[in-house]
Amino acid sequence: MKGSVRKVAVLGSTGSVGTQALDVIRAQEGLSLCALSAKNNVEEAEKQIRAFSPAFAAMADPRAAAELMLRVADTGTRVFAGREGIAEMIASCGADVYLNSVLGFEGLFSTREIIKTGKPLALSNKESIVTAGELVKKAAKRSGTEILPVDSEHCAIHQCLRVGEHGEIKKLLLTASGGPFYGYSPRELEKVTLEETLAHPTWKMGKKITVDSATLMNKGFEVIEASRLFDVPGEKIEVLVHRESIVHSAVEYADHAILAQLSLPDMRFCAQYALTYPCRLPGPTEELSLAEIGSLSFARPDLTAFPLLALAYRALSDGGIYPAVLNAANEEAVHAFLDKKIRYPEIAEVVTAVYEETPPLGVPLTFKQIYQADAEARLAAGERVRRIEIQERKLSR
Ligand code: MN
Repeated sequence: MKGSVRKVAVLGSTGSVGTQALDVIRAQEGLSLCALSAKNNVEEAEKQIRAFSPAFAAMADPRAAAELMLRVADTGTRVFAGREGIAEMIASCGADVYLNSVLGFEGLFSTREIIKTGKPLALSNKESIVTAGELVKKAAKRSGTEILPVDSEHCAIHQCLRVGEHGEIKKLLLTASGGPFYGYSPRELEKVTLEETLAHPTWKMGKKITVDSATLMNKGFEVIEASRLFDVPGEKIEVLVHRESIVHSAVEYADHAILAQLSLPDMRFCAQYALTYPCRLPGPTEELSLAEIGSLSFARPDLTAFPLLALAYRALSDGGIYPAVLNAANEEAVHAFLDKKIRYPEIAEVVTAVYEETPPLGVPLTFKQIYQADAEARLAAGERVRRIEIQERKLSR
């Protein structure tokens, strides 16, 4: 970071983490944006191109790409279209570091293309690691890509691990805000609404992950993510409810020393950490005043009220395609919930049913099998959602 400017490519630049990463790039002289990609938000992409003048941009949706091309024809930015275009841009943009903040399973595509470059990958797309962690890690090792987690818990653990050896780790302590329904009984959870689910107490995020935070599915994915990223088995990963979201996670070492990372809950912190690693630059957020916070609390999560967290531990130990199945069924169930097709408790019902009916794979895991398991779990989840809708219609008649 000394003197030279680090060129950053941001994949998924119009999403919540993407825009916050651009805030970091704007604020740090040592960072510049050389490429961006988005799905189809042409308006926001145009604004970003005009503000940052990256050499390259790409839109996953070819029609959106065509529109963007017209809109930014007066700029020097070259626009790529579709998945092939994104792959070409990743290969040719010459970034020093890539941030992947694409939403959902789709982000696995960008992760794989970025790894081919051998350059560091600041990874905000947890689905890449949840669904295909072992394969992604193998590929990264081969090409020399270092994966720097942008997820706040994993960013915290990454920092805490810098002071110890892998063999000295006793436990990872993964903190969870507990979401808007902390302390609710399964019965109370029966009646919660979409609006209540979307009101997260401490973090400002996209809708899908906000729902996942309310069901603790997000924490479950993060257990899998932590296990894969840091080579620590599920038994050594403990989830700790911490309502204040100040301690972002911690590592307990063999001597029972616990090292934790504390800061205000703000994704810009994590984006900057990953983009400027191993340097520490002046903070993108306000200082944390512990005296003002006063006290911090910790508790165990309720696995009965939040069964998807328990199911994630099971998927981690079942391995193979199961984490991908869990992710796909959940993505579909959450979208059905956001579309008001199913109710809150039915998210876990759909996901669990799809998981249970998926037979294990008898052959070694490949990316192709992950994609297939993903597609099949989505179909199965869609089928379950339709059945629930039909039932509901019968009841309301
Ligand atoms: Mn997180």
